[in-house]
Amino acid sequence: MNAPVNIDPQTGDSKAEHLVVIGNGMAGCRAVEEIIARDPGRYRITIFGAEPRVNYDRIMLSPVLAGEKKFEDIIINDQAWYDDNDIELVSGDAVIAIKRGAKEVVSASGRVTSYDRLLIATGSDPFIIPVPGKDLAGVVTFRDLDDVDKMLAAADAGTAKGGGKAVVIGGGLLGLEAAHGLNLRGMDVTVIHLMPTLMERQLDEAAGFLLKSELEGRGQNILTEANTAAIIDAGDGRVEAVQLSDGRSIAADIVVMAVGIRPNVRLAQEAGLDVERGILVDDYMVTSDPAILAVGECVQHRGACYGLVAPLWDMCRALADATTGTVTAGYQGSVTSNQAESVRHQPIQPPGIFGLVRMRRHRHARCIARRV
Ligand SMILES: Cc1cc2nc3c(=O)[nH]c(=O)nc-3n(C[C@H](O)[C@H](O)[C@H](O)COP(=O)(O)OP(=O)(O)OC[C@H]3O[C@@H](n4cnc5c(N)ncnc54)[C@H](O)[C@@H]3O)c2cc1C
Repeated sequence: MNAPVNIDPQTGDSKAEHLVVIGNGMAGCRAVEEIIARDPGRYRITIFGAEPRVNYDRIMLSPVLAGEKKFEDIIINDQAWYDDNDIELVSGDAVIAIKRGAKEVVSASGRVTSYDRLLIATGSDPFIIPVPGKDLAGVVTFRDLDDVDKMLAAADAGTAKGGGKAVVIGGGLLGLEAAHGLNLRGMDVTVIHLMPTLMERQLDEAAGFLLKSELEGRGQNILTEANTAAIIDAGDGRVEAVQLSDGRSIAADIVVMAVGIRPNVRLAQEAGLDVERGILVDDYMVTSDPAILAVGECVQHRGACYGLVAPLWDMCRALADATTGTVTAGYQGSVTSNQAESVRHQPIQPPGIFGLVRMRRHRHARCIARRV
């Protein structure tokens, strides 16, 4: 329980400052954990989450897709954590506006909540290639549990009719994780990748080729140097195929777009905060409004935006120190590694594609892959 140090003896109300967090994801909740660990009674805390669930380990969605874990296994903080720490969780209700003048946020359900300090932790949005057919039913991204549920439903439907077809656009880590999971779920999977080799940002040419052979050996169809021109409508508003620019057509019951992410900055932008690619923050994760902090994939710090959890943990520590009165040098930026990391800093027993590829960033950013 939060220490009851800031309770008004007359009214029984909390006198603590109200910290409102937008985003019940990995960085938002980690920041709250770090603050509570330093000073449990410092803030009265409300967390808004667009997703209708408690805080979970997004990294472990791949094993959920692959059938190796259930959602219950990947929860980081269950409802008891919110209750025990007097945190109000408003889940399934996205914040739609920040009113900086009044120091209030407005949610989709119409709830108006005032804050003393606001923390924006809205993560990233998956990038959708702007091709014809991108909005058809059956075109999904791979970011949250709802996306996984959609993929599982497609796999189940495929099983029911004796085999479903999945096309994954994007041969990066996320796309290959999706392909691997769908393949294990019995789908006939084709990966479409624009570049000559898979995971070209992490793997050199030889390693990319080795990976392609390995995946083909597992029954996946890998098309490199393949450019998506359109997604074809079956006639009922559902996806039927993916059309490539060279004229080839790949049949699909489901299309997974896994071609990259963009910091989710819309709320900050509309509120008039300084935003470039991400929400601009200083070394203490303070935005251009001193009452508003931001952390996670949605921020841009010293020109860099991050898409891995390790830098976010560093940001959360710096933020928590600063907001609980500990003087530090703040967040200094991160050198990212391609090595898979777990939520608790332990190297994970790699799920999915990490079971095929072990990466280690070399001094010259050259990575190695080896069969396991
Ligand atoms: C399948 C998968 C595998 C991954 N594997 C790895 C890995 O192996 N290693 C690694 O380091 N990283 C991995 N990542 C990336 C890692 O998950 C992210 O870096 C991390 O989740 C970012 O944390 P975040 O809090 O910034 O964003 P998120 O965890 O996405 O949290 C943001 C939350 O804010 C919510 N939100 C957005 N807008 C609003 C709003 N207006 N109101 C209320 N709530 C809102 C979103 O719904 C979301 O729940 C993986 C990601 C995915 C999807």
